[in-house]
Amino acid sequence: MIHPEQQRRAYLQAMGIDVWLPREAEEPEAAASVTSAEGMDWPELRDCVAGCTRCELSTTRTNTVFGVGNTDADWLIVGEAPGAEEDRRGEPFVGRAGQLLDQMLLAIGESRESVFIANILKCRPPNNRDPNQKEAAACREYLERQIELIQPKIILAAGRIAAQNLLGSDDPVGRLRGRPHELNGIPLVVTYHPAYLLRSPSQKHKSWSDLCLATRLAAEASA
Ligand code: URA
Repeated sequence: MIHPEQQRRAYLQAMGIDVWLPREAEEPEAAASVTSAEGMDWPELRDCVAGCTRCELSTTRTNTVFGVGNTDADWLIVGEAPGAEEDRRGEPFVGRAGQLLDQMLLAIGESRESVFIANILKCRPPNNRDPNQKEAAACREYLERQIELIQPKIILAAGRIAAQNLLGSDDPVGRLRGRPHELNGIPLVVTYHPAYLLRSPSQKHKSWSDLCLATRLAAEASA
């Protein structure tokens, strides 16, 4: 049965009359049910990410992109967000930029299997737009838990979005790269995103020097 008050409001609305309600009469906001990733192990975290609805990107993604590689890695590579191909396959860095990343890893004696590769976002932003602050904040806990579980010796932030989000900085990559940073006591090096290097191959030598710096810091952290 329709409540008379509901019926009255429906009539008024149909007549184009705004109904003003005292604040306490408004519908209470549905409490957001967000499961904390704190203390989760790998399978729990993987499942939690796979079912995540913390932000709008959950409505447009095909697959979540959790990350791949060695869960006991010395190196953690952090990119921006999945692109179209990554969204389709559920794996990070599988396009052309990914192939260049693989080559960069080979050059330092590492591989896709020996490192762990993740992104700031686990879901693809539509049309590959930049992640917004809300999305990055909603996703942050997952990456933080991955870092806690892996305990890498070095974090390599690939590109502006990764660098700025991890370091809480607005500085461009050109100013952040080439020197050591730290994230929760873990050495962190910023370098150019492989997609940028594909467009600007003349900058590759700078990324090579960043990789050499990261290798040195990783060795120091292992000593
Ligand atoms: N670019 C990224 O930053 N991450 C991916 O996974 C793919 C492309």
